[in-house]
Amino acid sequence: MEMTRRGFLIVTGAVGSGVALSTFGLDLGPVRAYAEELDKAKRLKAAKQVTTVCCYCSVGCGLICSVDKVTGKIFNIEGDPEHPINEGSLCAKGAGFFDLTEANKYRLRKVLYRAPGGMDWEEKSWDWAIPRIARLVKDARDKGFVARNAKGELVNRAETIAHLGSSNVDSEECWLMVTKARALGMVYIDHQARV
Ligand code: SF4
Repeated sequence: MEMTRRGFLIVTGAVGSGVALSTFGLDLGPVRAYAEELDKAKRLKAAKQVTTVCCYCSVGCGLICSVDKVTGKIFNIEGDPEHPINEGSLCAKGAGFFDLTEANKYRLRKVLYRAPGGMDWEEKSWDWAIPRIARLVKDARDKGFVARNAKGELVNRAETIAHLGSSNVDSEECWLMVTKARALGMVYIDHQARV
């Protein structure tokens, strides 16, 4: 019988006793990772499981979110093997879904600013950042419309501003961003998910 990763996690129940090996100077990284997986297996068995659909593209892969019943927080997201579209598999983007949750300690939570030509990042507030962004966009649009069409007419094309979208935005957010960028006259619009 073929054992899937998920099946393996769920049926495995105990942590081995190899932790004591650390006293001999052995690298226990793999053992620890294994123990964490087994601990996760126990949590998965006890969790409330909720199905949902990946929001990133129109493929619409199915996901299972495991919610810790005590904390009420999601601690694992993986492909749904019973979903007819993806049958448990996910692309790299979908597989990284859990990193979007608050559990990801590396998620950027504050505004960071680096002055033109500067090397250091400074922490700023949104109250500081939003008026500054608006000012810069307005100035760039006021000075930046220089392109002309074949008839010599000035066209609303803001060629000094570019927009680079994150790969962590969903289809609806992409639509909103592109609509906004086009409305501002931007033509240099790209998205990490395209590459
Ligand atoms: S997992 Fe990948 S292919 Fe599936 S819906 Fe999400 S982005 Fe699209």
